[in-house]
Amino acid sequence: MEQGFNTLKKVLTLERQRGYSDDAVVGGLDALLERWRRQHAGDMHVPIPESYKGLSVNQRKRWIDEALAALSGLGKSVGTRVKEKPSSKALATKAKPSRPRHAPKESFPELDSPITALKGVQDATAKRFGKLGVTTVRDLIYLFPNRHLDFRATNPIANLVPGEDQTATGFVWEASVVRLGPRRQGSEVIIGDETGNIKAVWFNNTFLGHSLKPNQRIAVGGKVRVFRGRKVFENPEYEVISEKDRMHTGRMVPIYPLTDGLYQRSVRNLVRRALDLSLGKVPELIDDRLLVRRELLPIREAIGQAHYPKDEDSKEKARQRLSFDELFLMQLRVLTRKRDWQQGQEARPITIDASLTRNFVDALPFDPTGAQSRAMEQVSGDMQGQRPMARLLQGDVGSGKTVVATGALLQAVANGAQGAIMVPTEILAEQHFRTICELLGKEPDLRWGNEIVQSFESFLDRPVRVGLLIGDIRQGAKREVHRMIEEGHIDIVVGTQALIQKEVEFRDLALIVVDEQHRFGVMQRAALRQKGASPHLLVMTATPIPRTLALTLYGDLDVSILDEMPTGRLPIETKWVKPYQRNLAYDFVREQVKVGRQAFVICPLVEESEVLQTRAATKEYEWLSEEVFPELRLGLLHGRLNPSEKDEVMESFRRGDLDILVSTAVVEVGIDVPNATVMMIEGAERFGLSQLHQFRGRVGRGTEKSYCLLLSDQPSEEARERLELMTRTLDGFELAEEDLRLRGPGEFFGTRQSGLPDLRMARLSDTAILEMARAEAEQTMSRDPYLESPENGNLAVALERLGSTWTIGGTEA
Ligand code: ADP
Ligand code: MG
Repeated sequence: MEQGFNTLKKVLTLERQRGYSDDAVVGGLDALLERWRRQHAGDMHVPIPESYKGLSVNQRKRWIDEALAALSGLGKSVGTRVKEKPSSKALATKAKPSRPRHAPKESFPELDSPITALKGVQDATAKRFGKLGVTTVRDLIYLFPNRHLDFRATNPIANLVPGEDQTATGFVWEASVVRLGPRRQGSEVIIGDETGNIKAVWFNNTFLGHSLKPNQRIAVGGKVRVFRGRKVFENPEYEVISEKDRMHTGRMVPIYPLTDGLYQRSVRNLVRRALDLSLGKVPELIDDRLLVRRELLPIREAIGQAHYPKDEDSKEKARQRLSFDELFLMQLRVLTRKRDWQQGQEARPITIDASLTRNFVDALPFDPTGAQSRAMEQVSGDMQGQRPMARLLQGDVGSGKTVVATGALLQAVANGAQGAIMVPTEILAEQHFRTICELLGKEPDLRWGNEIVQSFESFLDRPVRVGLLIGDIRQGAKREVHRMIEEGHIDIVVGTQALIQKEVEFRDLALIVVDEQHRFGVMQRAALRQKGASPHLLVMTATPIPRTLALTLYGDLDVSILDEMPTGRLPIETKWVKPYQRNLAYDFVREQVKVGRQAFVICPLVEESEVLQTRAATKEYEWLSEEVFPELRLGLLHGRLNPSEKDEVMESFRRGDLDILVSTAVVEVGIDVPNATVMMIEGAERFGLSQLHQFRGRVGRGTEKSYCLLLSDQPSEEARERLELMTRTLDGFELAEEDLRLRGPGEFFGTRQSGLPDLRMARLSDTAILEMARAEAEQTMSRDPYLESPENGNLAVALERLGSTWTIGGTEA
């Protein structure tokens, strides 16, 4: 019994050292106290609380003081050594605080201490950990295993089953260093229990052969193999089990990420030590009510279980809690940014003139879709406010986003302000310029390069001037455009990155539209934003973004969705063309051209090299124009053409002077050619669903039925799935969700898109947890927008810490 008392004493002492945070024992003190109440209550002379967890810190302190006083009295009076009861033995393993006995001098390092604060960690080791991103004790605690080996199954030696992971426990019979080959030494250890014995062999490890002594109790865990008719453990995990809690065998054993010079066993030991000493200092970010409501584990328990789970179930529960934290903080971060964007500054409210919108819409050659009207209203509503608009307009290719943007730009101009629309490429800039001019009433002729400012008389009592600003215009013209922007003679400017150069100064910029926004870096957007006092921002994207990603990347934006295609569009028919049908596909293109239509041919994505792409496209072009379609007019578009050559090709295709446009995948074919009805994609297996969908969106823009032909010689299993999906649905959102599922978020936008936070435990497919985190973050922010209340203190600190390490896409204020 004495030993049982000692255990309790140690636990309570540790609990006192850790500030009464109920974590001296994994899972809290109550289970242990419950056992004590049953077995020793009469001996202790101090009542044991019903629920230690339920006590306040002060109550805990008072009770522990009393209990320790009582126990110390008992310790003296119980003089004889009593054999330990099985129950208290269980306690002894469960209660980690046996530690002080082993490392009496080691203090409890702070979470922010460098890992060298842990005894025995030298600079060299610290450096290696640095490569894993681990520099502090906190990092070590948050260094979660990649996976676990399940060594829970413990078998008597006679019953070990070859081929399965299991643990055997026994006594060392003999240990020796053996020669295992010409230049190979190892250790051989015979382990025995009541049922038999088994050999364990470690190659290239002589340490064990030297150091293990007969009669030591040892556990070995791993797969049992049969060698020359006898069962043997090869390179098993091991531990001398009198030492401490089981870490390496007999349980779910963590396998950590490693780097050069770090070994699994030592990482495991060190993480464990960090947990033992400092887990108690990890602050709880989330209040009890939320934890209960959302059925989440307390943080320390979650961390403990993430490293040393009881079973698969607890491991998953731990992952959920830790994922929640990551996503919750991420959402708080995003909402904080939205708060700063909207509360930090006053925007210029735009007075919306309903009759102006009506005139604009009436002048269009078509009726806007319901979705367009709704989006225009939402945008108008935002712009009227004193807070800068921060809205994302999502709509599939061809859903008519430019109309919405143009309506908004006109309203800004009617208020005497300027508007800008920024796009990623020159071709797109020209296209938008053209589209906006058309929507306002006339098509500019850009062939001579001197029509880059257009004037429209019919909407306001003064002309509305629209300008184009791209890198590729004459210096003189460019300076002229700069001047006009600065003096306010250009009301709406369409441009590329050229817009954010420092020479460009606006007189009064009130609205910024950014198209195909995911291609812009956060910095570029921030730079554009600097051009106006506190402009309204409309971000447009044709890449349908799954909700999980949208919440992550654009969580600071309000969202409008154009989920309705203009009427009169025929659905695009998508065919997966098998290799033997290639000639049929060519015949089909020929027929379409014969009836006056045009076709795109997209060349396979070769590599991330423009030179190779160009070479491949040139080959394809030569082959098609010489061998396949000698009678047709073909054009070639690739990234190595200079801008005016590119324009020349695009322009001839638009005019109908070319029948087929062969293009590399890197070239933005974001052009609007309603007469094009065939999109033929070579090497379709190389593209992601979203990209295929973008290509497909280039056709089906006119009144004729359009087709998308997917060619693929050797699609992998996964590629087949993608191609199959393409033929089945035209819904960009569905495809985006699938794309995310199939390729993961890193690939989703292609290689350059990052801005995704570093999530260790959460997956972006955890929609339920993400939605939960979003909802809770919104609630928290609405109650306490600046996280000033004491109960959110830990949250504020955690958020602050992340601030320096996370950049999230979306709009940087
Ligand atoms: P997005 O940018 O969303 O891909 P655009 O704004 O470029 O789409 O519009 C695609 C084409 O559809 C343009 O030619 C445009 O004039 C036309 N369009 C836009 N809205 C409608 C509508 N409601 N009805 C018919 N055609 C439309
Ligand atoms: Mg567009």
